[in-house]
Amino acid sequence: MAQQKPDPAQLAAVDFTPPRRGWRDLPVQFRKGTYNYATPRRHVEALGLPNPRDWQPHDADWNLPSDWKRIILDGMKERLERYRSFRLFMDICVRCGACADKCHFYLGSGDPRNTPVLRAELLRSVYRRYFTAAGRMFGPLAGARDLTEDVLKEWFYYFYQCTECRRCSVFCPYGIDTAEITMIGRELLSLVGCTIQWVVEPAANCYRTGNHLGIQPHGFKDSLEFAADELEELTGIRIDIPIDRKGAEVLLVVPSADYFGTPHYYTLLGYLMVLHEACVDYTFSAFASEGGNFGLFASHELMKRLNGKIYSEARRLGVKWILGGECGHMWRVIHQYMDTMNGPADFLEVPVSPVTGTRFDHAASTKMVHVCEFTADLIAHGKLSLDRSRNDHWNVTFHDSCNPARAMGLYEEPRLILRSVLNHFHEMAEDTIRERTLCCGSGAGLGTDENFEMRMRGGRPRAMAVHDVRTRHGTNCVACICAIDKATLPPLLEYWVPGVDVAGVHELVGNALVMTGERPRTTDLRGEPLGEGGGRA
Ligand code: SF4
Ligand code: SF4
Repeated sequence: MAQQKPDPAQLAAVDFTPPRRGWRDLPVQFRKGTYNYATPRRHVEALGLPNPRDWQPHDADWNLPSDWKRIILDGMKERLERYRSFRLFMDICVRCGACADKCHFYLGSGDPRNTPVLRAELLRSVYRRYFTAAGRMFGPLAGARDLTEDVLKEWFYYFYQCTECRRCSVFCPYGIDTAEITMIGRELLSLVGCTIQWVVEPAANCYRTGNHLGIQPHGFKDSLEFAADELEELTGIRIDIPIDRKGAEVLLVVPSADYFGTPHYYTLLGYLMVLHEACVDYTFSAFASEGGNFGLFASHELMKRLNGKIYSEARRLGVKWILGGECGHMWRVIHQYMDTMNGPADFLEVPVSPVTGTRFDHAASTKMVHVCEFTADLIAHGKLSLDRSRNDHWNVTFHDSCNPARAMGLYEEPRLILRSVLNHFHEMAEDTIRERTLCCGSGAGLGTDENFEMRMRGGRPRAMAVHDVRTRHGTNCVACICAIDKATLPPLLEYWVPGVDVAGVHELVGNALVMTGERPRTTDLRGEPLGEGGGRA
């Protein structure tokens, strides 16, 4: 059922007064608009995950398995032994508070349990109780507490109010990564069947059809053919979009939203134009028709299972290397986990641009290159003819999506591209971009309707930075390279900064790209008039 949207003025009045009672004495209230719905039984069963049932977080009885406590503590023990970082993060926090005001959910809600230090403490207090001598002997005096159903509910509420963005880790003097703690927290919850629909349903869809949206292979093919038709109408050029073509040089993997969502679709058009113009010998895969990986938001095991199809398709199709589209968490998985989870991909070659000869040595291990790296290299070598004035109806700023930015350091390539295709480009404030970028507030599986209030609260710091650049420079568009951002920034900006649109970097490339043999263009990829003013104020 659609919920009434809260008034922005009401959400903006954040109360940062700490509660009078200690956080341990405050049971979680599952208030509508601030939490996510549980996964229906059928999706849990589809993936063979534990404890399938139909339930909701606001139910008094969560129908946990009778031995749920043992399952969680065994799971914790196993992970403490397996992940050195997890044990370290449980032990070394000195509670200095440097991370406290760096989390957008704390800034937007004023809830102390949304400070990264306290979010981690939810798990750490249980760790002390069962895995440290001091905690076992002195209990609360040593900051320890028993694992109870109320504690489990608190974990669920707050680990699904963290977008795993890693901003807090940038400011921690010890390098503690609270996102990793959230990941373990969610993984433990999933052991007893406490997951959210918006994470597990897309993962289950991937199992059924190869992509999060559940699009069947013929639907995937139809979407790409539709894109080819649209491009022909726009440019007069008929492009070929190969699917499952064995022996191609490059496998192209994109987030499914690129061929089924808006404004993502215009990004797809941009890739297709660049690859055609650069004469790249590539293919899509109907099975690896999803670059995104919602397994990252549930468990390492699920992430590994979903990621495996990229390498297996690269092997089946006999390509040399892999090119990946504009996506956020997809790159976190590829950059930080794929090589050790499902690699090494020794059957592939170190990626080399067939156009410029550039060898992408940083991808020597994963064998996978980001489309922004590829296009930036083409532009830097003067291989694309670009007409910036075709984007003069856009006054653009760039949102560094958390994962490509903080997880893989992709800061300069998108900016090189944007400066090459735009006459009007302005950065947001320095402490809100690059490594210190602010999250959209809806990543890590939280981009749903039922938690709309929490999303708007969490995304407010990002929106305020957009508001600032709009006030100073008249910005009317936020460019980004993340499929989740392209879905979640539009409602966020509509709520806090109406009049600002969202576009993929390759959409703007597609507008500016002068293709060989194209007919004069009068509209951009959205069908809006080209040039200054265009169809917008
Ligand atoms: S900044 Fe690091 S050490 Fe300080 S409270 Fe936060 S997590 Fe703990
Ligand atoms: S990872 Fe991001 S959302 Fe999670 S606690 Fe840190 S800053 Fe907050």
